[in-house]
Amino acid sequence: MSASVAAQNEASLPTARDVPLGPLAGMDVPLWKAATGAVLHLSAECRAFRVPPQRAGVSLRVPDRGSMADVPEPGGCQSCPNPFPDYYTEARHLLSRMEELRKLDDRLVAGHDLDAYCGVLAFSMHGLGGRDPKDAHRLLRKPLAALAAARDQVAARHAGAYRGGEATEELLMIGTASLLHTDFHRRRPGKFRLPWQEAWEEICEEALDAQELENPSSDQIRYDYRHGFDQWCEKWLTALMDLSPAEQHARPSPVAARWARAHDVLERAIKRDLQDQPWAVRLADRLHHTGRGLVAGIAASMAEPVVVAYDGREVIDLPWLAQEILWVQYPGGVRQAGRSQHRLTALPRLFTLLDSLSRRSLDVIADTDWHDSPAVYQEAIDNVPKAAFSPDAYCWWNTNAAGRLPHLLVMARTEAASARRQAQRTQAPWR
Ligand SMILES: [Zn+2]
Repeated sequence: MSASVAAQNEASLPTARDVPLGPLAGMDVPLWKAATGAVLHLSAECRAFRVPPQRAGVSLRVPDRGSMADVPEPGGCQSCPNPFPDYYTEARHLLSRMEELRKLDDRLVAGHDLDAYCGVLAFSMHGLGGRDPKDAHRLLRKPLAALAAARDQVAARHAGAYRGGEATEELLMIGTASLLHTDFHRRRPGKFRLPWQEAWEEICEEALDAQELENPSSDQIRYDYRHGFDQWCEKWLTALMDLSPAEQHARPSPVAARWARAHDVLERAIKRDLQDQPWAVRLADRLHHTGRGLVAGIAASMAEPVVVAYDGREVIDLPWLAQEILWVQYPGGVRQAGRSQHRLTALPRLFTLLDSLSRRSLDVIADTDWHDSPAVYQEAIDNVPKAAFSPDAYCWWNTNAAGRLPHLLVMARTEAASARRQAQRTQAPWR
């Protein structure tokens, strides 16, 4: 990589140097200590003191000019009242957010890391105590804006690796595992769990039959296998859903690494439960391959897209950060209403099924043979009357006005098609 390309790839993330000293400049905080004792305290009012303290003869001095990088660490005692103005606490909070973004960026530079990328997407610009950044101290607004810009840059710089291809496959895998996981935990065994359980039990039975030939009194083992099924499945599914990166070693792809991790987790769990039975390893292999076939089958059969409306106030039953990447991979149109982002887009039926098992925050508007562009969805959602997005409306697509959505979508498609024809005519007027 040439030096200029490396420089371009390097993030210009804001640091403590970008945060002004503000009212802290020139502050001189006298330090205190107990008559006998070496610990320095920031205040004579500290409740660590049993008897009146004395001046320590030194102070914590903030320089007259510089940045937050020049403020000495107060260190020491945890009980001292904070001698600094509110600005200090607010600025320190901003510094810790900067540090957070830097760590996420480091992880992304180090290699494929879905969790870190989702972390950047979900990196919100809230201030101290979840406050609106608009309420920040006026001197902190500039570094706050720099942090927001840096977040967008980091997201954009790594977008290529997480928008499609392997990352889409990963998300489908996570979605399918979530589907099975949700189905698994319902009081009545769900329709996805049943065939799975049957297949797994068959394999366990075969393992038992083989055991019985060697060891005729295997009631305990039979019990262990039955009992193990739920726990093993749960662990296997959780390993598939886990957003954190799986060790890739020599694996060709993040997806392959994810499968390998699930297999390892399963094998470890079975070995632990069944001790050193010779069947444990083969059982793990067979269970893994059956489960893998099921997950791959469900993912493939439910990959066809459907048009959905999403109410921005609800969450979907994915690991929560994974929801962020869902919208990156299936962008569509967005309508901001208050703090919520409502959406209209097409995504694999799998996600609507997952959602329908519990929350129902996605609504299927139509099957689609169309390959609509995000612009078409944007136009359609922009034309929904504003009242549909009021905080009192239960779900925006359920209101009368939004009920016209399929119609608005058809209109947006027609308009896009005629704009396309118009553009072609301009390019080639003889047609
Ligand atoms: Zn103290």
